[in-house]
Amino acid sequence: MTQQEIYSQSITAIFKIGIGPSSSHTIGPMDACVRFCKLLQEQQVLEQVARVQVILHGSLALTGKGHLTDLACVVGLSGVCAKEVSVSQRQEILQKAIQEHTLHLAKTKNISFNLEEDILFESEALSLHENGMEVCAFNSKQDLLLKEIYYSTGGGFIYTEEELKHKTTNSTKPKHNAFDFSSAKELMELCEKHRTHIAGIVDMHESALFGQNYARTYCLEIYKAMLECYKNGVSSQEKQLPGYIGMARLAPKVYTRLNKHPSQADPLAMVDYATLYARAVSEENACGHKVVTAPTNGACGVVPAVLLYCHHHIKPLETEQIVDFLLTCAAVGYLYKKNASLSGAEAGCQAEVGTASSMAAAGFAFVMGGNVRQVLSAAEIAMEHHLGLTCDPVGGLVQIPCIERNVVGTIKAISSARLALEDGYQAKVSLDDVISTMYEVGKALDSKYKETSLGGLATHVHIPKC
Ligand code: SF4
Repeated sequence: MTQQEIYSQSITAIFKIGIGPSSSHTIGPMDACVRFCKLLQEQQVLEQVARVQVILHGSLALTGKGHLTDLACVVGLSGVCAKEVSVSQRQEILQKAIQEHTLHLAKTKNISFNLEEDILFESEALSLHENGMEVCAFNSKQDLLLKEIYYSTGGGFIYTEEELKHKTTNSTKPKHNAFDFSSAKELMELCEKHRTHIAGIVDMHESALFGQNYARTYCLEIYKAMLECYKNGVSSQEKQLPGYIGMARLAPKVYTRLNKHPSQADPLAMVDYATLYARAVSEENACGHKVVTAPTNGACGVVPAVLLYCHHHIKPLETEQIVDFLLTCAAVGYLYKKNASLSGAEAGCQAEVGTASSMAAAGFAFVMGGNVRQVLSAAEIAMEHHLGLTCDPVGGLVQIPCIERNVVGTIKAISSARLALEDGYQAKVSLDDVISTMYEVGKALDSKYKETSLGGLATHVHIPKC
């Protein structure tokens, strides 16, 4: 099995460290271009390459400018992946490529480059997914040396055309290991069989894939990155978010206000703090800074916000509890990835913020003492009240409605866990039911409401370009 295949089976891979503003439109295309660089090396044609071209299709083309997809491809073609790139390194690569017309392909050789001619936008989608892209390499005579098609299916996951065909036609695939699961029902049965909670099953699954303690170490790295992102979000000196909308960065102001006048006596203080956590992380994402997909970049504020809210306002969490919180969230995200979608372009914002809220509700219910049934109910409730949510970002930027949507997704996660933990609560809708409903609704949504910026808020809100 290749590294890529093993990685695609990982549950904790639902969390990835990368850069904003979009996991499907920034991280995915960047990492697809890195994969293409490796392919050039494997096929031993890298030395002959004189020019590369990327054609972005469907949603990648329609909202690619606002999501910085073209610039992400430039960084990826330079051989630098989303996890490793720093803000200054990205600036350096872009300056060289755009102003000096030179691309340092695959960290190996300089070729000439022209952003307008070498990264093209083609609104027609490719056949397998709304987020498709063709990457081509030519020699000095303009002969095609190599071409690959990639799909960015949400949450930073990428597949070649062959891999995606195999994935979509092989729904009855055997389990990866004894701790793998395809439904919430199977997950519950595994928990009963092994007398453990959801986090325990994920831990054993990841140990079977990558070795003992992998999941715990990975989650600590993720937690550290989430915390750093939050701290950067509240301490930023930038006054505005990038882009023509001119949105103010509000998190630092809210942070200062809450520090000066802690609002414990205010019965609505909970809303202010949850808002602060989700906003700080989402604003970092909108600025293209380091964030953690959870399960996507657009929805990256919800899971850390619920975690921080719990830790600072309900009860301080031990390191092990933080890890278990994240592992529980990951299990729920994995179910959506496996049986539905994490992509706004495929299923609307219900697949992004809805899934994030569902994940966070599960993690919160678990650390509040919920049993497996209650944890899965919390996840179900959170999604039930996101069904039908459109993806219609204004100007193709991940700002309106995205940032406040993270805030509201956070509040819904907390209240969903609360509902599920109520003594005597009887779940009549299963998590499996709501996941398949979300996918059905998402498929039925008109494409103008699926990350194309051709409908909804994107066309009704008119903000003059400054
Ligand atoms: S509306 Fe939702 S799905 Fe669409 S870009 Fe914003 S956060 Fe992502």
